[in-house]
Formats: sequence, structure tokens, C-alpha cells
Amino acid sequence: MNRIHLLSEAVANQIAAGEVIQRPASVVKELMENAIDAGATRVDVIVKDAGRTLIQVTDDGCGMGPEDALLCFERHATSKISSAEDLFSLQTKGFRGEALASIASIAHVELKTRPEGEALGTRLLFEGAVCRENAPCSCEKGTTFLVRNLFFNVPARRQFLKSDSVEFNHILDEFMRVVLVTPEVAFTLYHNDKQLYNLPKAVLKQRIVNVFGNSYKEKLLPVRQESQVARIEGFIGTPAAARKTKGEQYLFVNQRYFKHPYFHHAITSALEELLPADHHPIYFIYFDVDPSKIDVNIHPTKIEVKFSEEKVIYSFLRAAVRHAIGSFNISSHIEFDEPSPFDFSTVPTGGVPKPPVISYNPDYNPFHSQKRDGSKKGYAIPASHTPSGVSEPLQQIYASLRDAHSETESVSDTPAQMEMALPEEESSQGKGEVPMFQWCCSHIVTCHESSLLLIDQQAASERILYERIMGQLEKKEPAPMQQLLFPESVTFSPQDAETLRDMLADIRKIGFDMEPFGRNAMIVHGVPSDMTGQPVQKLLEQLLESFKCNLISMRLGRRENLARSLARTMAVRTGTVLSKTEMAAIMHDLFQCSLPSVSPEGRNTFVCLSLSDVRKMGGERR
Ligand code: ADP
Ligand code: MG
Repeated sequence: MNRIHLLSEAVANQIAAGEVIQRPASVVKELMENAIDAGATRVDVIVKDAGRTLIQVTDDGCGMGPEDALLCFERHATSKISSAEDLFSLQTKGFRGEALASIASIAHVELKTRPEGEALGTRLLFEGAVCRENAPCSCEKGTTFLVRNLFFNVPARRQFLKSDSVEFNHILDEFMRVVLVTPEVAFTLYHNDKQLYNLPKAVLKQRIVNVFGNSYKEKLLPVRQESQVARIEGFIGTPAAARKTKGEQYLFVNQRYFKHPYFHHAITSALEELLPADHHPIYFIYFDVDPSKIDVNIHPTKIEVKFSEEKVIYSFLRAAVRHAIGSFNISSHIEFDEPSPFDFSTVPTGGVPKPPVISYNPDYNPFHSQKRDGSKKGYAIPASHTPSGVSEPLQQIYASLRDAHSETESVSDTPAQMEMALPEEESSQGKGEVPMFQWCCSHIVTCHESSLLLIDQQAASERILYERIMGQLEKKEPAPMQQLLFPESVTFSPQDAETLRDMLADIRKIGFDMEPFGRNAMIVHGVPSDMTGQPVQKLLEQLLESFKCNLISMRLGRRENLARSLARTMAVRTGTVLSKTEMAAIMHDLFQCSLPSVSPEGRNTFVCLSLSDVRKMGGERR
């Protein structure tokens, strides 16, 4: 008996589908690319439930007659090549004739299409590669594909799909990769009946700005170089626009998105001295090369492309980027958060400094932990917690510090900055008050009993905020919020907007009053009352950066990540000059924490030196 037999067409298609269609985003990519190949001037994409329920792509392209409409679902049915030689002069995105056959074998597909000049169009219905309906219909010129119930007959695939937000992010990735090479085509994208994009026909720079937000107008420097091996066009972001997480980095060759670590290196190395460590540049680089100089046998899902003259192109690209930077002379624009350049010491020169008065003005305290009437405000943390994981002597210090700080608090009406300007008052020392000063804009120096404490202001502040935020996230009620005088609209990249939408409920709990606004924006009506005065846009951007960094580098739960990121964003930085009030607040709040000795990231929040430690440092007495 023969053991070998040919697979049925349906099985062969399903196998092919496994390679071509990995997730809903693959369908979006294939349908959008077909629309572009059909010469569309506008493409509308409608997605429901991240593509599980529906992916619909409508174009006003050339459409198909009744025979083609049926044929396009056959494997290796394509209008784009007819001989192997055609591969070397390929101008279209598709050519394998596999996509539609694959999609039809694993979904319910409806096609409505009409070529120009025909009175009637064709409507076809496929279910798992079987044609259920085929009839003339009236429809607009062009083509609409509706793909429903993806993977309905491949439960294993369906199960492996990730959450809606992950799958939708993949869809956004594919959407970007198409819209960024076809600015001459208008696009819309809807998800669950919400319009996320409405991109009119535009020039390239305007398209990038329309996609990523107005702030990109100032961020992009044009790159343009021509040589025999390639033509390079596009934009690189200014060094100041570089981010800690990989943001928008796009390479295209002959209108096709691709990844190329070697070329990526060419760009980053060109910017090397201009970018601070761990920062990634933004770039949109478009190569135009002779199709015979690249390997066109590109797998539909693989995005690596092989160039025949990679080394030459590497140098050429690097030079083009350097030239772009050079001609805009932007090195002077670099402004990253460097520590404050001056070394601020609060100890006055001449005379013995008197320890400062610890006064406490709740209206000026950036943390707002205690109101004048003593009631807890904002992110309360249980004061009864005993610090865990620290040695016995330190435990005692915490306990007594905590007591000391909850008792000796006095309230002053003088704003902290005025206090700084009043050395007379500052020098009047009250009884039993703890001496305290800021050292190098970095540490709060104070003593307790016979110990000297050096508190790292940033690490301490992160710990305090982290515990408050975690506490707040457990609560039902949102944290106290301060209404903004003018609601602010803040625009994000589509991915960031999606991430924010995902964590909206938690963010609101922390005291942000905001809601989605249009495609990629949020409208912010209020911020946590601890946070008034900080620019909202910057704050949210930093929060997202930190959140994404943590997502990549650590496997944190969402709330944990949010709390850490927000604590980091809101924390008092090293380099910030602190008033006495602020120092007192940090001292007070730190020792109310359940784990005061380390920052959420594990750095020590303070160093404690006992008298005997210091004596030992001084050497043995003779
Ligand atoms: P490929 O794109 O590799 O040719 P596909 O399976 O994606 O393979 O499509 C098969 C054929 O169907 C295409 O070659 C094209 O002729 C036709 N086709 C697909 N989508 C459209 C569309 N939106 N408008 C017009 N023709 C289309
Ligand atoms: Mg195709």
C-alpha cells in the first residue's frame, strides 16, 4: 500500500496559513497591502475586538471582475508576477498569491468588489475555504474584504492569541508600517467603533506628524543622500527627542518595512556622542535600491531583507545621518536631565551654623501626607507597620525616628521659600529640634541620638511615593485630586495611548482625572493634589517611559509597575534644592514607611553612621 499521498488543497492552505497568518495583525497587513497594490487612494480599516471578531478593509482601487474575485482565493493566484524574472523587478507588495487563500482557509471571509466601468459588483462568501455564496451585488467601485471569526477552525491558534491590547498593538504596528510608506493614500482606522486615525493624503513629513503627533514637527531632521548603490530619504529625530525606550525606528526599502540590526547600528553609531547612554534615536529611513540588489524572496512574515552591498550601504547611511545632524548643527540642543550644575550647600559661610527649625507647611509639602488638623491626606500608609528585613539596632532607630517625627511636627504658615530667605528666623533654634541640612543637593544630613543619618533624597522620595501609591491602588476611592484651571490635552504615540488607556482605571485611582480624547490624546482635567505645578505632558511621558522600561527589563505586575514608574516620575530628583520643610517632610514620611531602608529598586535610602563608626574611621586613639 502506498504511504505517500497528496494533501488536499484545504489542508495545504491551512498549513500555509500557519506561516502567513500568525495573528489578526497579519490579516490587516495582507489586506492593506493588497489595497495599495490595487492602486487605492483611500483605505478604511475597521477592527473589532483586536481582530478576533472582525477585520474589514475597504479600498477604492481597481476592484475585481467575477472570475478574478473567485480566483483570488486560490493558492498561487496572483496578478503580480507571471515569471520568475518578474521577481527581480518587483514593484508590488504581494506576489506569492498565498494571502487570500490562507485567510479564507481559517476564517469566514466576505468579499464585495467592483471594477470601474462595471454596473454590478460581485459578492462572495467563504467559510474555511469553501465558497458558500457567489452572486452579483451592487457596491462601490473598489474592494471590501470582511474577515470574521479568525481561526474559528484552528482552536490552538485562537488560544495562543494574546490579550486584546497586545494583539491590537500588533495591528497598530502593521498599520504604521503601511501608512508610513504611502503618504499619498488616505487611511482611517477604527477599533471597536472608535476612530483612531483619520490620515488624509499628505507629504511624508506631514504623514509622520499626523501619525505621531504635532510634537514631531520639531523633532525631525531630513536625511537625503544619493549614490550609485542606493538613495536614502527620510528623517531622523533630533538627539533631544531620543528616548530611553525604543520608540519609532523605521527602516523601509522600496516601500517595504524591514528590520536590519546592521543598518540600525549605522544610525546609532552616527549619533553616538550625541545621545546619552541608554537613549534610542527616532528614525524613519527610506531606501530606494535597484530591486535586483536585494533578495526579493522575502517570506511574508519575515521582515529581514538581504542587501548585496551591505557594507557600502552601512557607510553611506552612517554618513547620511551624520550629514543631517551636521547641517542642522543641533548638538547645542541636547538637554537631558543632568543634575543641577551648582553645588548648593545650605551651611552659611562665616560663623557657626545653627540647626534649622523644622517647620511644616502642608500647603508647600510636595507629598501632602499630613493636613494641618493632623488628618491624613492623599496616599496614606499604615503608620503601625514595623520595618521588616532590617537589623535590630536599625529597627530601634526607625521606631524612635518614627515617634520623633510624628510628635515634633510643628506647623508654620511661612512658605518654605520665604523661610530660606529669612536667615534670622532660620537660625533661631527651638528646643529639641533636630538639626538638618542638605548636602550637595543630594542628601539630607541629620542626626538622631548618637547616629548620623545621610538620607538619599531621591531614593527616599521614591520609597515614600511608592508605598503611598500602592496603598492608594488598594483603595476603592480615588486619591484627592486638584482640578486644573484649564484642562490639558496631551497627545501620545498610538502605542503609548493604548498603554495609557489600558491603565486608565488605576491612573484615575491615583488622582489623575483624565479621559481618552480623540485618537491618541488624553484630556487631563485634574492631577493628584501632590503634584500640582508639574507640566502634565512631561509627567505622563516620563511615566510611560519608565513603565515601558520596567515592562522590558522586569516582569512586574501592572500595578507594581505603575506604582514604581509613577514614584520614579514624581520623586524629588538628586540635584533639586530642598527647603527645610521639604526635608522635614521627607524625613517624616520615610520613617513612616513599611520598608524605609531601600528604594523600590533596591537602592539604600540612607546611610547611618554611629559615633563609634566615625571614631573607628578616625583611627585608634593613642
Ligand atoms: P498576492 O498579493 O501575493 O498577489 P493575494 O492572495 O494577497 O496574493 O491576492 C491575490 C490576488 O487577488 C492579487 O494578486 C490581486 O490580483 C487580487 N486582489 C487581492 N486584493 C485585492 C484588492 N483589494 N483589489 C483588487 N485586487 C485584489
Ligand atoms: Mg497580497
